[in-house]
Amino acid sequence: MNRLEEVQAASNTYVESQSRRESNARTYARKFPMAIQEAHGIFLKDTDGRTYYDCLCGAGTLALGHNHPVVVEAIRSVLDSGLPLHTLDITTPVKEEFVDTVFDCLPKALANHARIQFCGPTGADAVEAAVKLVKTATGRRSMLSFHGGYHGMTSGALSLTGNLNAKVPISGLMSDVHFLPYPYTYRDPFGIGEEGHRIGSRFIEHVLNDPESGITPPAAMIMEAVQGEGGVIPAPVEWVRQMRRITDSLQIPLIIDEVQAGFGRTGKWFAFEHSGIIPDVVVMSKAIGGSLPLSVVIYHEKLDVWKPGAHAGTFRGNQMAMAAGTATLQYMRETNLIEHVREMGLRLMSAFNQLKKSSRYIGDVRGRGLMIGIEIVDTEAMPDDLGSFPAFQAMAARIQRACFERGLIVELGGRHGAVVRFLPPLNITPEQCDAVCTIFADAVKAAERDRSELES
Ligand code: PMP
Repeated sequence: MNRLEEVQAASNTYVESQSRRESNARTYARKFPMAIQEAHGIFLKDTDGRTYYDCLCGAGTLALGHNHPVVVEAIRSVLDSGLPLHTLDITTPVKEEFVDTVFDCLPKALANHARIQFCGPTGADAVEAAVKLVKTATGRRSMLSFHGGYHGMTSGALSLTGNLNAKVPISGLMSDVHFLPYPYTYRDPFGIGEEGHRIGSRFIEHVLNDPESGITPPAAMIMEAVQGEGGVIPAPVEWVRQMRRITDSLQIPLIIDEVQAGFGRTGKWFAFEHSGIIPDVVVMSKAIGGSLPLSVVIYHEKLDVWKPGAHAGTFRGNQMAMAAGTATLQYMRETNLIEHVREMGLRLMSAFNQLKKSSRYIGDVRGRGLMIGIEIVDTEAMPDDLGSFPAFQAMAARIQRACFERGLIVELGGRHGAVVRFLPPLNITPEQCDAVCTIFADAVKAAERDRSELES
């Protein structure tokens, strides 16, 4: 065996042993059958020596890409300092600096009255904490959530999630969740398109004011200002303002889930800021730990009536994650990275819109900042009355595979798993954007060719 064959054999061995030993519930490992050797910035290298542009980035966790020097240095300085690596929720100078830095990212109106709860380090645990918080504060039991919303895989968070795949097998989750229509212009549930969100907000206001709606007064409304897993759907800013007005008028706390959109990804620190509203509760994770696991809930002090120990948990004191988070957020501020996110987002969107003109299967290109989705549709099927074609999951999967074969990692999402999602590092360069677009265009063409060959 020559060196290359040896390396390839090793890589196959890793993948084979993983599939033999790991759970049937494994996910990304199935779509990206590789063993990772190293990573820098946007690049991943597998054990075969192949390099990939990583536009999944730990599902949006790696704001500065892999192993950014400021992140590595922050982790190293904790290791060198003799600080305990884990402190439950006892404070340290590193933790206090982290809280200062996170509060500095918030709009003043929220920061001035904010409390922060450290959670077990996943987004889902922070969602669980947020729900517990609002239920305790209001004494109410039901929750409002949205079609297409994603809030995590623990039982409570899953109850608030739209996707039925994971829910149906374990029906009997938190019962009192009422799902409301999210504004999704391309597949507007009211059949109107662009203006459908106005009917949506009117409908929601009507339902919540109807004494015979069947919905008991809710403890809170939870939503993403840009749905991520649900198909990269930015809610119109006007609709988000309406949700704030309606919940305010009915004294329903508004929880914004910024787990994926948070910390610069949409071209503002937080996605809710595009609409200028101030939520009562914000759930944060992913990028906040600068690559390491960390999650928090930030909320208005008036809700802070839960009892000591109401949301305990062992792993709430990861000092390396706090230092890495502080370093990431400070670097973003110092380098004006959010402006860069807006520019790179426009660059990618414009290239994808250009590609849409020549592609048979791209139905919609949408997003905000560097949270971008491309909906793959079957233009050979009948369009609906809005002119939108049915989602084409098999083609999306083929495109994803063609991307992987060409060295580009992208995820799928959306109601029918037909939206190609891009979550590149926020410091992606213009040249890297162009390279990603070139590979993607080539993968789309190859997948389209495959279909013609299959049919001929
Ligand atoms: N909320 C949103 C908006 C998310 O995108 C996710 C994860 N994709 C979660 C919550 C759950 O986070 P975790 O996977 O860390 O539990």
